[in-house]
Amino acid sequence: HAKQSGRNRLAEFVPAMTAATQRRAALERELRRAIDGGQLAVHYQPQFDCASGALLGVEALVRWRHPEHGPISPAEFIPIAEESGLIVELGSWVLRHACAEVAQWQRAGGPALTLAVNMSARQLREPGFIEDVTRALASSGLAPGRLELELTESVLMEDVAGALAFMQSVRALGVRLAIDDFGTGYSSLAYLQTFPINQLKVDRSFVQLLPQRGETIIHAVLALARGFGLTVVAEGVEEPRQLEWLREAGCDVVQGYLLGMPMAADAFRERFLEPATA
Ligand code: C2E
Ligand code: MG
Ligand code: MG
Ligand code: MG
Repeated sequence: HAKQSGRNRLAEFVPAMTAATQRRAALERELRRAIDGGQLAVHYQPQFDCASGALLGVEALVRWRHPEHGPISPAEFIPIAEESGLIVELGSWVLRHACAEVAQWQRAGGPALTLAVNMSARQLREPGFIEDVTRALASSGLAPGRLELELTESVLMEDVAGALAFMQSVRALGVRLAIDDFGTGYSSLAYLQTFPINQLKVDRSFVQLLPQRGETIIHAVLALARGFGLTVVAEGVEEPRQLEWLREAGCDVVQGYLLGMPMAADAFRERFLEPATA
């Protein structure tokens, strides 16, 4: 009897896998159209000076509203975009779109904000990427020092020599570099003295342990950053006591649902820029 039900479970499992594979293949085809078809949007999550509470900048986070499936999470479609190579086109769309939008806010009288844009490994290997950045800056009028590219540790470790050359060309443009999800990758601390990085973003898995746990790691990250002349962003701040702890510890920048969700451009302008631009 047990054998019988075991076989039934397997029979149910196989079509389920097929459905997941089919959805993936369909999403890959549809993502191609979504990039040109206006289904993508950039949402902006605010970043604040931890000590003064001043708005410093935004992180651009891509969104896909599928005509039938509704919103699809980047956690699902970014890996598909990476494996299919579509990330190159998608990433360059995000870069152009976000640079234009943030530069426009400032022209309309808003404060000068920093724009952080996420990057995948595939983009870093793309020969035309530096040119894409140059063009996005030139056509938007955003100052290079206002743009920050976020890379994860795994992206750096995949090809250390390639990453170093890439980072040097980015820094030569005057564009800033941040390490995203810091503390979660398989990397060597030695890269902190090799790579021309400006900022570390402590992963939210550590921030969310505060204040009972996570303190030792965040104190260590802050000390490490000081030593190398880097600033630290705490991601995923959700509770007032986490913010309080970070302020006392001397963290530089904070980002998280407590302070602001990722928002569509209109909502962001209304909430954070309207007083200045109205
Ligand atoms: P990430 O770069 O580490 O972005 C932070 C993620 O945490 C975002 O998820 C954001 O919405 C979420 N988040 C922010 N504050 C909080 C908080 O207080 N609590 C919790 N639980 N979550 C918070 P999202 O937008 O779903 O993006 C997921 C990941 O997808 C990003 O992680 C990034 O790796 C990738 N991604 C998003 N947009 C792009 C893009 O344009 N290009 C590339 N290559 N990757 C992107
Ligand atoms: Mg990020
Ligand atoms: Mg992150
Ligand atoms: Mg992440």
